[in-house]
Amino acid sequence: MNAKTYVEPQTTIPVYDECDVLVVGGGSAGHSAAIAAARAGCKNVILMERYGYCGGDVTGGYVLLIPSLSFHDHTYVRGLQEEWFTRLQKIPDAVNGPGPELAGRTEPELLAKWGAVGGATAIAPRRVCHGFMLDPMELRIEMDLMLTEHSDAIRVLYHSWGVKPIMEGNVCKGVIFESKEGRKAILAKQIIDATGDADLCRLSGAPTTSSIDEECRCSATALVYRIGGFSYREFGKWRMENMQKAGELSAELTKIHGFRSAIIAGTRDDVSWVNNWQPKRDCSRIADQTATELGTRVVLRKVLECYKTYAPEVFKDAYLYDIAPQLGTRGSHRIVGEHVISSNDWAFPKEHADCIAWHCTVESLNDNAPIEIPYRAILPQKVENLLAPGRHLSADRIAIDNVNLIPQCVGTGQAAGVAAAVAVADGASTHTVNVAKVQDILAGEQDVPLPRNAHTDKSYTECLVEHEYGLYTEAAKKARELGDAAKAYRHWTISGGSGTAQHE
Ligand SMILES: Cc1cc2nc3c(=O)[nH]c(=O)nc-3n(C[C@H](O)[C@H](O)[C@H](O)COP(=O)(O)OP(=O)(O)OC[C@H]3O[C@@H](n4cnc5c(N)ncnc54)[C@H](O)[C@@H]3O)c2cc1C
Repeated sequence: MNAKTYVEPQTTIPVYDECDVLVVGGGSAGHSAAIAAARAGCKNVILMERYGYCGGDVTGGYVLLIPSLSFHDHTYVRGLQEEWFTRLQKIPDAVNGPGPELAGRTEPELLAKWGAVGGATAIAPRRVCHGFMLDPMELRIEMDLMLTEHSDAIRVLYHSWGVKPIMEGNVCKGVIFESKEGRKAILAKQIIDATGDADLCRLSGAPTTSSIDEECRCSATALVYRIGGFSYREFGKWRMENMQKAGELSAELTKIHGFRSAIIAGTRDDVSWVNNWQPKRDCSRIADQTATELGTRVVLRKVLECYKTYAPEVFKDAYLYDIAPQLGTRGSHRIVGEHVISSNDWAFPKEHADCIAWHCTVESLNDNAPIEIPYRAILPQKVENLLAPGRHLSADRIAIDNVNLIPQCVGTGQAAGVAAAVAVADGASTHTVNVAKVQDILAGEQDVPLPRNAHTDKSYTECLVEHEYGLYTEAAKKARELGDAAKAYRHWTISGGSGTAQHE
């Protein structure tokens, strides 16, 4: 970077609007936060998004797999995440995956059918997990519909980029943003940073961290693209019958790309998405963002040619369907909150009195059993009235790979929205908000199962106890023997390895 500096002159900027709850970033976390705040009774919400649609990584980065929503026969991840499923299920080809009624089933024909939907099966015993693939354009429309259904409470500002929190001491009072109308401010009682990269938290005085290293899945960017005109089912068969050639194809693709990639099923047999892992790249750094975009696109024609050369019988009519409009951002900066989630949360299940999401994750250490995500993991230290749900929540460099998936972003976003609404209604701050009241709204009106909450059926806890918190795996036994999960097993890494599912 150039060493010269420029002193920006001080200016007075107009206040564009004022609200009770301001959500910055309309990804899975931010969209859920805005909807949940409105449903919790807040009638003055603003949702600000830098692009022209909601969904972030999902609808713009084409991350199309919602994994692991259930443990044995109970669906722990419900709320707005389940609403995505039930809404999209009504639209042809918008979802593909086993519904909640199939959770825990072990019939071979069901396992054969849903094995291809990554994350939709668990291991001991091998059984169906509720999870699904979705169509990104249909979800974009559905997310807009959800916002318009709450137009009495939510004002949406697309094409508006939040650039700076307005701080008075340690209290966040609003956000400065940029748009085609210039630089303006929004004042708010509660602010939710759902930018994914802790854009606002980083400038607020709250402690943040980041980890760019070879091991961490979050240190890999992506540019997802889709291939159409071939049958994913036929490709699966071809792979089984041509294992060696399939290995060579995969190696050649890695050579062309310079990083690992994998074709994954979508909602239709004739269109699939290609996930990829571009290691040691920071998705909040201009040079890494540019390299990811340019580097992926310039070789795409060669990539397609490679598929056709190795498997002409499958790919002869294949074509580049489209390229994601948005960079795939797994993680960069994240908050160091009042609680930091670690891999011991899977090996030594903790009861958190402030649990706001009881989530199965793709962590196979405990065979996908739910862990308790506390409110304190989205609560930044040292600042008031600023919450941080989504992929930048507070977790260490190993745990973050397992708690920043779409369900956790939706779940923590929903909880942040309710917490902000309760804080506004009660005149409380983010540190003094009545968390028990937040939990009651989540578990009562908003369909979010929570442990030890009167609104949640006791069978959820019984299921967990009956199945030993999923701690019957060899990795869990080792972790408990050594007293530290991080020492006990090799978590899933971007270069391969074991621990979690391979599809992220
Ligand atoms: C290639 C890839 C594969 C993955 N695979 C899976 C998978 O299989 N299953 C799974 O569950 N998860 C997967 N993940 C992770 C998951 O997709 C993300 O962690 C999750 O979608 C993040 O949601 P979020 O709302 O926290 O952040 P984002 O989706 O990044 O949303 C942030 C939103 O904020 C907006 N924004 C950012 N900064 C500003 C600003 N300053 N002002 C205004 N708006 C702003 C963005 O435009 C965006 O809409 C994958 C991620 C990637 C990249």
